[in-house]
Amino acid sequence: MSAQAVITLDIDWAPDYAIDFAANLLIEAQVRATWFVTHDSPAVRRLRQYPSLFELGIHPNFLPGTTHGKTESDILQHCMDIVPHARVVRTHGLVQTSNLLEKIIDETPVQVDVSLFLPHAAALEPVVYYWENQKRLVRLPYMWEDDFEMVRPDGVWDLGSLIDRGTGLMIMDFHPIHIFLNSVTLDTYRSVRALGRLVDLSEEVVRGHIDEGRGAGYAFRSAIERMQRSETIFLQSFSGAIA
Ligand SMILES: [Zn+2]
Repeated sequence: MSAQAVITLDIDWAPDYAIDFAANLLIEAQVRATWFVTHDSPAVRRLRQYPSLFELGIHPNFLPGTTHGKTESDILQHCMDIVPHARVVRTHGLVQTSNLLEKIIDETPVQVDVSLFLPHAAALEPVVYYWENQKRLVRLPYMWEDDFEMVRPDGVWDLGSLIDRGTGLMIMDFHPIHIFLNSVTLDTYRSVRALGRLVDLSEEVVRGHIDEGRGAGYAFRSAIERMQRSETIFLQSFSGAIA
């Protein structure tokens, strides 16, 4: 079983310049990616101009203090209004219960869930999560995420070689702000946040905090460079692929 690598990004209310920065790297390399969208913005609308390159999914926030809605159903509807054609979901903060999965199956056209994080797991594969009346959700576990890698003692940033050595489904998760900052540790991001909310800071100010060395931006470029050499796919293609 050879590796099938997929790049995903959780937008997490990133400023437009960070979304554009990550998108342009993918566009230049013609590598496909799945974006989990938290809000509407000009940069999010620009992603829609590349339907053969970018798949958009929803990234509902069910955590306390969410701005996505009052009830689980409201939150799902709000996110589907932003991305009406979404077929994939990853919940913000990886919130999940069997009740919530049932609501996703019953109340949205989403067919694929990517909210299971199994760090550095090898040889992963899609599984079908059945519910009553033969309703189903395909669940795709993912195995690498930029901010978790920052706190691992054995963090891997050379994703090109990780993919070369790997087998099975290798779904990686990035955040546009960490790609832009090339965050090496969580302190990179914290040093910016200490100055204020991201929306209140100029791109120039944030740019002054870009990290050097092996960080999220380095890993993103490493994955893209490797994936340029293979066919890249959308996660929704798994929805009908398994019985
Ligand atoms: Zn998130």
